[in-house]
Formats: sequence, structure tokens, C-alpha cells
Amino acid sequence: MSKVPKETTDVNRFGFETTTSIPADAPLSNNPGHKLRTSNTIVDRAALSDDKALLDREQVERGAGQKIQFISSGNQIGIMRLSDQDEAPVPNQFTGPSLRNPPQRFRFDGHKMMHHIDRVLAWQRGERFAPIHIDMGLTKFCNTACLYCYAVVQNMTQGSMIAPDALMRYIDDCGRLGVRSIGFIGDGEPTLNPALYDATVRARERGIDTSMATNGLLLDMDRAHDLLQNMSWIRFNLSAGTPAGFRRVHQSKERNFELLIEKIRELVRIKKENNYPCTIGLQMVLIPECFDEVLSEARLGADLGVDYFVIKHCSDSEYKEIGIRYEDYLEIGDVLREAESYSTPEYVVQAKWNKINAASESSLYKNGFRKYDACFGTPFLLQISGNGKIYPCGPFFNKERFYIGDLHEDSFYDLVMGDRYWQVHKDVSESVDVHKDCAVGCRQDYVNKFLWDLKNPPEHINFI
Ligand code: SF4
Repeated sequence: MSKVPKETTDVNRFGFETTTSIPADAPLSNNPGHKLRTSNTIVDRAALSDDKALLDREQVERGAGQKIQFISSGNQIGIMRLSDQDEAPVPNQFTGPSLRNPPQRFRFDGHKMMHHIDRVLAWQRGERFAPIHIDMGLTKFCNTACLYCYAVVQNMTQGSMIAPDALMRYIDDCGRLGVRSIGFIGDGEPTLNPALYDATVRARERGIDTSMATNGLLLDMDRAHDLLQNMSWIRFNLSAGTPAGFRRVHQSKERNFELLIEKIRELVRIKKENNYPCTIGLQMVLIPECFDEVLSEARLGADLGVDYFVIKHCSDSEYKEIGIRYEDYLEIGDVLREAESYSTPEYVVQAKWNKINAASESSLYKNGFRKYDACFGTPFLLQISGNGKIYPCGPFFNKERFYIGDLHEDSFYDLVMGDRYWQVHKDVSESVDVHKDCAVGCRQDYVNKFLWDLKNPPEHINFI
């Protein structure tokens, strides 16, 4: 049979052009079945499987230096080509360029619940289990005044912070419970609590990953090694790439911008010199006041040698006290894409498109409507206020109905194993109307969607 099939173009009985590529000398089937678009001329595969008819072994085309191996199974014979050089053209094999998905080094725009199936199973069985992750403030006040600050909505209180002994007890309890990570990310600035550094060291000893989001201005560089050795990542909250932008968005002095940049640069130097694995990144909270700072910050991040620059939407409260209009994001798409083009294998620039694109969703969604109807995420991802008070989530800080306990008075271990803690989570899942009662785009949003889908399976789940 000829090796290169012959293409035949015809007009079918419905008036459409069709093209077949059946070799002229191919064995044809005697009982071909019903007529196709073209005809009922069908190659007789059974005849092809005849050793002699199919493979004249000497005549199989080979590339230069290529070895051929014949594989027999029943009455069928296959060919394996053992070198990939100069392969002979074969039908049905795509030989053009192929694409590869770029590796996703960080998952900024989603969740990682599938890596914690044990906790998901515990939840499905109705057991009590420790949070996978806890976001927590270490203070309830700050040394800057960012325009987009959600902590203002959560009642900043000058001077209140978690006491060192309560913090250390809590870290020990987290170790006993099996909490997997703690982010010192909360209502206040974590570096204003001097216990931050020792807490990080203690958490590593207890097998807990830690991270921190900071404005960086008061970072104690004498403890830089402790942080870099023990933290998984440090994120600088910076929504400007120039001193003027810094003054406008963070309402801080321009000279603080230079101070911060020097600290980041030094931290990166120490990290690289000592080969510490800690990831260092920048995060911009996107508001119209910093649209013109996106590209300068993308360039700044590259210059500083940080690992990433992520650009996220601005969360607003249920009362929209920060005044975010998602439709404003529609005008910044090109700039964000240009910023992303600064990415290299060592430096990731990424916008959180899932949330930023909410602007093009229905008005319901961008105004707070969720793609699920109940919040199940809080036992998996808990949030604790910088004064040590525990609530299921940040947007519910100070809502006493959902108050769980205080790290200064209660053992965190006993709380998680006790009734009150689970009653509050149950109350959240059963009584909170996520479309009306909640902040727009809260921290648990991705996790909630995942758990909702799990709890509300469609029919025919075995047809994956
Ligand atoms: S969905 Fe509502 S209750 Fe649940 S974590 Fe978000 S803001 Fe809190």
C-alpha cells in the first residue's frame, strides 16, 4: 500500500466539499456499514493487520540513524521509532510546534485546598479539626495610613496588641493542633509588635510555616536572619513605585519610600548571600489612585531583585466604606498586562485577574453577590484580630455574636476542641447571607466556592 495517502476532494450529496485521504491501493471493506458524509468507502483495517500486507519491513521509511522496532500483539503489528531525528511523515501525528503551559510558581489567584484533603474529609465526616491556615494581626494599629486600609473598618485601636506570652502559648497550641501555617497578616502592622521575631522562630520549631505582610518601614534589620531563616515568605504592602505615589497612596513621607526601598534591597541581599529559601515579594492593592504607579512598581521590583510583584483588587466592606467601583478596573487591563510582561523566570509579575475581572461580571456579582450561598470556609482559614480576639473571619471582627475567645484568656487548643468555636462556625454557615452580610471578595472566597461545590454535587458525578 502506498505510504503517503492520496487526498481526494469531492462534493458530497448535500453539496458540501469533503476531502478524504484513502490510498488508492488500500484494501477496502466489503461490508462498510452506513454511508458517511462522504460515502461508504472504508479501509478494511482487518486486511491491514495482515503482516505481509501491512508491513513490508524492509520498506518502512527510516530517518537518518533511526532504529525501527516492530511490536506484535495478536494479529496486529506496531512500529516504534527509537530515535526522534528525522522521523518519517506518518498520518495522524501532529509534528508542528507544541505549546507548554507556563509553570505557576505561586498561586495568587486561587486556593490550595486539594493539598489538604485530610482536613476536607474530616469536615465531611463532621469531626473537629484544626485550621489549615490562620491569618492574624499582631497589633491593632499602624504607622502608615494607606488609602485602601480595611483595618480602619475593623476599628483600629492605638496601643493594643497581643502580649508576647499569650502569643507564644498560642503558637505552641497551634503546633499541638496541627495548624499548618500562620500569616502575620491582619488588622494592624505586625512589625509594631516586638514579639513577631521570636514568634516566627518558635513557630518553625513547632513545625508551622509562617509568613508576614508588612509596610516594612520598621522592620528590625538586626533580626533579618531570624525572619529569612524561618519564614516561608515576606510580602511588602507597597502600592507605589515612586516617592510621589507613595506619599499619595500610603499618606506617608516621601523619604519613607527611600527608607523602605533600602530595607527591601538589603533583605534581598541577605537572603541571596545566605541562600535562604524565604520568598520576598511586593503587593499592590489596586485603586485608581495608584493606576499610574503600576508600571513603575513593576520595574522597581525587577530592580530590587524580589521574587514577585502581585497586583490585587481592593476588598471593600459590606457598606463599601472604601468606595471601590469595580468598573474602574476595566480601564487598567492593558497596563496590567504590560506589567505582567516584565516577568522572568526569577521574577513573577501577576495580576489577580479572577477578582479584578469581576468588573465585567454582572452588576450583582461585582456588588457582592457570591457564586455560592453559604460560607463553609472559616474553620479551614481562620482569622484572629491583632488584639488577640478570635472571630471566624476578618470582616466579622467586633461582631460579638461571632466572638470565639481571646488568646490572653483562653487556650487556643481548648477553644478549637470546644463547643463555642464550632457553634460559631455553624452559625456562620447557617445564618450568614454571604450575598448581603459580607465584605466584597473576602479572604475565604476561593475556599468557599470549592467547599460549596463539594457540598452541592451535580448529578452523575461518576462521569468526571
Ligand atoms: S463569606 Fe462572609 S462570613 Fe464567610 S469569611 Fe467571608 S466575610 Fe466572613
